[in-house]
Amino acid sequence: MASPTLSGLHHVTALSGAAQDNLAFYAGVLGLRRVKTTVNFDDPKTYHLYYGDIVGRPGTITTFFPWPRTRQGRAGAGMVQAVAFAVPSGSLDDWAAHLRAADMAVRRATRFGDPLLQFDDPSGLPLELVATDAMPNPDAWTSAGLPVEQPIQSMHAPTLPVFADDRTLELFTEIFGWGQVDEDQNRRRLQAPDAERARFVDLQVRDRHPSGRMGQGTIHHVAFRARDAQEQRHWQQSLREHDIQVTEVKDRRYFQSIYFRDPTWTSGILFEIATDGPGFVTDESKDALGRTLQLPDWLETRRTELERALPTLSPPDR
Ligand code: ZN
Repeated sequence: MASPTLSGLHHVTALSGAAQDNLAFYAGVLGLRRVKTTVNFDDPKTYHLYYGDIVGRPGTITTFFPWPRTRQGRAGAGMVQAVAFAVPSGSLDDWAAHLRAADMAVRRATRFGDPLLQFDDPSGLPLELVATDAMPNPDAWTSAGLPVEQPIQSMHAPTLPVFADDRTLELFTEIFGWGQVDEDQNRRRLQAPDAERARFVDLQVRDRHPSGRMGQGTIHHVAFRARDAQEQRHWQQSLREHDIQVTEVKDRRYFQSIYFRDPTWTSGILFEIATDGPGFVTDESKDALGRTLQLPDWLETRRTELERALPTLSPPDR
């Protein structure tokens, strides 16, 4: 078969403060749908919250580990800098008013011709809303209180800080088949050629990046899409052929994942390649997504204990 190209973004995972604050902001202010309430499988007394469009399609998903007792983090070398979402063009004035009404400090900017808003979420995570009609999503979700018909459509370009001699550009262009579509001062925009949404990453190329610190308000990793297990095996094999260490396939219940680091010793952003399936409708109905705690079989026997340990969430998104 012809070499596939990597099909855009799957999800971004970040660390946040209290789960309730996270839910109130992402569902109640940004209006994303909470598509899954589960626990961190490696640390099951903490939540893992997933947000996205109506069913949490790949390319629309943002996930959080709420770790309220963890110190504040700071993005730096080897860590993704900002999460961006695409919103319909012409919607930024309404979004700015909406965010300011929620006490957010909002800045305006323009990047590659698209106007955008920049602000921090309640944990200090840098976010951007980019106005573009390039990635319409008929299944975009909006919770109450948002500008009507102006919901977040999908993820836009996350900003990856790299050094000029990093092999990151080569990773995307030579292994994954992405192309550079724009360049502006120290920013290079790369595009997945056949992705229908969430198809960009921006490399921010500088001689120096301050060192970062994982903690609340920082991005843990960014995941890209494999349409199925076969495509994922292809990428696992291909990364190994390029001497990039990559993990075995791990079962994340809603998708299967492999992980690897950006191939440069100076940088080392954590990347994941996750399958499209089985998706979030695998353990609860489409109508009921996200409302009740879902546990994998191996944790179901500990449900009472875990429910006692986890803070109760009051949804802003009913
Ligand atoms: Zn992930």
